[in-house]
Amino acid sequence: SAKAAGRNVQMIFDPVMQARVALRNAQEEDLRLALERQHFVLHYQPQVDDTGTLTGFEALLRMQHPGKNVVMPDAFIGLAEETGLIVELGYWTLRTACEQLYQWSKLPATALLTVSVNVSARQFSDEALVERVLAIVQQSTIDPARLILELTESMMLDQVDSTVVKMRALRRSGIRFSLDDFGIGFSSLSYLKRLPLHEIKIDREFVNNITHDANDAVIVCAIIALAQGFGLSVIAEGVETVEQQVFLESRGCHRFQGYLFGRPVPLPLIDLSTLTPEKSAVTLM
Ligand code: C2E
Ligand code: MG
Ligand code: MG
Ligand code: MG
Repeated sequence: SAKAAGRNVQMIFDPVMQARVALRNAQEEDLRLALERQHFVLHYQPQVDDTGTLTGFEALLRMQHPGKNVVMPDAFIGLAEETGLIVELGYWTLRTACEQLYQWSKLPATALLTVSVNVSARQFSDEALVERVLAIVQQSTIDPARLILELTESMMLDQVDSTVVKMRALRRSGIRFSLDDFGIGFSSLSYLKRLPLHEIKIDREFVNNITHDANDAVIVCAIIALAQGFGLSVIAEGVETVEQQVFLESRGCHRFQGYLFGRPVPLPLIDLSTLTPEKSAVTLM
């Protein structure tokens, strides 16, 4: 009808909508150019065990235009997934992290460190995933066992079978998998028995409240028990206080990542000169 058509016309020329579309196009173009010009950088956050020994780093992506402020992933990962740019961005991230892992592997003090890399659902569903990951691992000549890919439950929802097949193929080469942000999904439990995992990572939302919220404490204890039952390693993310660490340790979680041990920092700020093969205490300058 004329009325409906009128409404449509109004919508198209709605200045707010137009501004929104223009902004999104500009952001998409910005992201595309950033990828083309490699205006990205990885920050590395330490992971430690209960003796305070550094065991590895999680690589976390940031956008960094020369001379501008760092842009955090929350501001661009969503758009990168929508546009599909996350696939190439993900391979760039993996290649960069593997090259860094190779640098560390050459020094006795850092030879055993692991690097964890986040892989988005969209990238994991790439048909060429297995082939391309294996090619990157081979080219960087790292030990695949030192590489941990972090997946989230969201990617399993409608393609568990193909995910499992790809995970098995990569597992055969030695690459390991961590289930990130564990606990916030709604059907986590069935994945635990199906996925060839090495580790689960307790989401920081639960860790945040364990010493104040009895319910979160119960959830965290259940997650740790599940990990133990399935023979999986368990690591807590977002550990900010000694009280949280003590609580986690008393319940059987002996690996940690969080501001208490170090924030994600760019490579030049990581001083590994104090490391020995026996005790890898990392100093952040
Ligand atoms: P994530 O994989 O769960 O990473 C952990 C996030 O928690 C990081 O945020 C880290 O900086 C933050 N964090 C670590 N310790 C603490 C703490 O003690 N307290 C608090 N409040 N936060 C802590 P970041 O770097 O902003 O990354 C956010 C998310 O963006 C990541 O969550 C991950 O889902 C995604 N992301 C980051 N890098 C990549 C990437 O290379 N590829 C993909 N696909 N996603 C990425
Ligand atoms: Mg992660
Ligand atoms: Mg996480
Ligand atoms: Mg998280």
